[in-house]
Amino acid sequence: MARCRKCRRKKADVFIPHHRLPLCEEHFLEWFEEYLARTVKKFKMFSPKAKILVAISGGKDSLVLWKALNNLGYHTEGLFVDLGIEDFSLISRRVAENFAEELDRPLHVVSIAKEIGLTIPDLKSRTKKYCSLCGSIKRYFFNRFARQNNFDVLVTGHNLDDEASSLLSNTINWQLKYLARKYPVLPEGNGFVRKAKPLCRFTAFEIKEYARLQKIEYLTERCPLSPEATRLVYAELMDELEEKMPGTKIRFYMDYLRKVYPIFNKQVEDFLDRPLTQCEFCGEPAVSSPCFVCKLKAEAKA
Ligand SMILES: [Zn+2]
Ligand SMILES: [Zn+2]
Repeated sequence: MARCRKCRRKKADVFIPHHRLPLCEEHFLEWFEEYLARTVKKFKMFSPKAKILVAISGGKDSLVLWKALNNLGYHTEGLFVDLGIEDFSLISRRVAENFAEELDRPLHVVSIAKEIGLTIPDLKSRTKKYCSLCGSIKRYFFNRFARQNNFDVLVTGHNLDDEASSLLSNTINWQLKYLARKYPVLPEGNGFVRKAKPLCRFTAFEIKEYARLQKIEYLTERCPLSPEATRLVYAELMDELEEKMPGTKIRFYMDYLRKVYPIFNKQVEDFLDRPLTQCEFCGEPAVSSPCFVCKLKAEAKA
């Protein structure tokens, strides 16, 4: 392998294809954190003094994001939502707790069995839409926790591969309401906290390399209840395009943000579902009151 582009001394440990950059271990880690800091600045995600809540799943993206933000000197705390998916939730929770201990930062845990009175496996036996419902439940608790505990911003580990493949899927299906909100930072408002995706310009490969070099132990298993079949089709398609035309993912995503997003955003209200209200029971933003979580709570009690 080539020599590191930065020091020109050590042998390169990592080659970053779309930046055509061979780097040694030390300079890859330095590049990764600098590029993260530049991404935060470029999109004005949050200020250096912000109190940041990191959504933690136990997978590589959320742990790498937490580690790198912590190394950059940001004030970060983690939140893990325990979904009660048997072994999967137990193991991911343990991975997240061990990591937090090593990082010496607080990890908060919200258990939906305690909060709602039922788990995702319970939901699965009731509805086919349990997978998207699970996503909504996680978003609900991340938002509520961040707001109630005065965090300035909630950050998630979405990476470039995630963003490019969901952009492809949203475009092919012309899901305008998703396109209109597809930006790496969303301001607070209507009961929602500020949200940001600081890893949006990093590929899964770069994130895995950072995890490897920092010796981060993360969970590689996917959720056993998630079919994800269609989502994978778009991810594979995107990978194929990237292989044939390197740089496609970053170009597709960044050009969307630069050229198309501003057009949608001018009339964002026209593309969203319906005006939001506030749940009269829990106070969270909702499409109708009671919100879906309070409805589930009532069902669980019945
Ligand atoms: Zn070097
Ligand atoms: Zn509610």
